[in-house]
Amino acid sequence: MEPDETPQWPRPYSAPRPYTAPRRTGLKHSSLAAIAFLLFIITLVLAGAYFSRELDVFPQGSSSYTPVPRPGLLPFGQRHEPPPGQEEADAPLGRPALESWISDSYEFLAVKADGSPLTYSPCRPIHYVVNQEQAPPGVEAILEEAIRRTSRASGLQFIFDGTTQELPSDERPGYQPGSYGDRWAPVLIAWANPQLVPRLSGQTVGLGGSSAISLSNGFKAYVTGTVSLDAPQFEDVLAERGGRQVATAVIMHELGHLLGLDHVNDPGQLMYDEASNVRDFEDGDLAGLAILGTGPCSKLY
Ligand SMILES: [Zn+2]
Repeated sequence: MEPDETPQWPRPYSAPRPYTAPRRTGLKHSSLAAIAFLLFIITLVLAGAYFSRELDVFPQGSSSYTPVPRPGLLPFGQRHEPPPGQEEADAPLGRPALESWISDSYEFLAVKADGSPLTYSPCRPIHYVVNQEQAPPGVEAILEEAIRRTSRASGLQFIFDGTTQELPSDERPGYQPGSYGDRWAPVLIAWANPQLVPRLSGQTVGLGGSSAISLSNGFKAYVTGTVSLDAPQFEDVLAERGGRQVATAVIMHELGHLLGLDHVNDPGQLMYDEASNVRDFEDGDLAGLAILGTGPCSKLY
């Protein structure tokens, strides 16, 4: 019931008319706006959940892995990963040397739910930087040769981005925009020693492994990694006869880990976990690398 059906002038200033039509219309509009805004926020949250992803770090040369906790809510506008799909071509950039594999003497460091191995995308290059502050003299050519052979075996393309002062770390962030720009951090190849990298102590001459992104739709792929090389032990190796071949083979073994190969219990392969006479990738290594070089491409990460 309207309290003031009879027009009065002046209308009492303080008369509240909460149920009059004009005011109701006003309320309706603002409610609709609020509901629309809420729906917008809910959509954003759901989209965020759907596209959520996290970075798993696979310890170097090991078959187990520890997922790194996804960072909590970040201040608005701050990212913890680069824009997706950078440098991702529509087709693989290269093809592995071996088109038909005749050996199954290989193991993968990590496999996905469907049984296929975790891989780098063959549709984008693998950038790498080198910390050569501790490098023995003359090892640049050895590293280049090891990378060239690993690239040929896998079909994956490597791009040298220059030198760095970054040191290896088990907690290495996969995204370091301050150091490397708005992209996934390049693979770090570091000449080090047991003081800098304790896991290089003892007989361990090198370590290699990669970190993977996990999307909420189940997709996983390596995005970056680290190879650590024990400079003092390499100096000893290089001082021996045939040392360059041994040094090259050790780096190739670590690059095999970087791309996703695990050790095999087969002394005829380079991925055998003990020192041997193998100086190059053999049939099992080549078969494994060919599979690792033909993983899925994706512009989602
Ligand atoms: Zn190894």
